[in-house]
Amino acid sequence: MLLSYDEFQSNTAAVLATIREACRQAGRNPTEVSLLPVTKTHPAEAVDYVRRHGGLPAVGENRVQEAAEKRPLTSGGLRWELIGHLQSNKARQAVEVFDRIQSVDSEKLVGVLAKAASTRPAPYPILLQINAGLDPAKFGADPDQAARLLEAALAQTSLRVEGLMTIAPLSDDPDVARRTFSHLRELRDQLAHRFQVPLPELSMGMSGDLTEAVAAGSTQVRVGSALFGRRPSAP
Ligand SMILES: *Cc1c(COP(=O)(O)O)cnc(C)c1O
Repeated sequence: MLLSYDEFQSNTAAVLATIREACRQAGRNPTEVSLLPVTKTHPAEAVDYVRRHGGLPAVGENRVQEAAEKRPLTSGGLRWELIGHLQSNKARQAVEVFDRIQSVDSEKLVGVLAKAASTRPAPYPILLQINAGLDPAKFGADPDQAARLLEAALAQTSLRVEGLMTIAPLSDDPDVARRTFSHLRELRDQLAHRFQVPLPELSMGMSGDLTEAVAAGSTQVRVGSALFGRRPSAP
């Protein structure tokens, strides 16, 4: 069951306050960190809550099919971002359904996406997903392969690489998330320097580790359960 709009609104206020406090502690400006509400497994009404709230320009979904079915049921006005693993055979549909894909993690996928995006008027925005915590349970390119992956993506004129994304390993120890996020930040700094590209977006931090992510330089936290409550099923 979806929570009420009032509950969503108070959850959102609490998450935004947590982000502001994390920014204050890190000496950062809160305008540098955006909140991406993650609406996966929730009905289209959850997306309309985000729209009604205002000030939150996009939503995150982790499955192409689910988003393709849900998006036409919403009132529009938001950007949709793919944050879940993408198989090459779904790449073409993903480019149609989503406004940005954060989960680009292989050279093969770069090639397929570039082809799918080639008829569009403007370069299609992507992030490269890096397994910065070296977690065998997570998708994402190996940090060792990040330079090759970036080089392949930069060679595609139909794609625009806006930055990097990571998911920290599940752990009770906040140091695991801290190390993962610092690693992604350092990798971004190195790659930006080496390839002379800005890579401004660092998509990192979720409900359980967003304070650590903001401290390490996150520019976007992807938050589901802290806004919408526990998900009906864990996909
Ligand atoms: C589900 C999901 C999130 C949100 O997770 P919460 O713990 O519910 O905040 C963030 N990022 C990705 C990639 C996800 O799949």
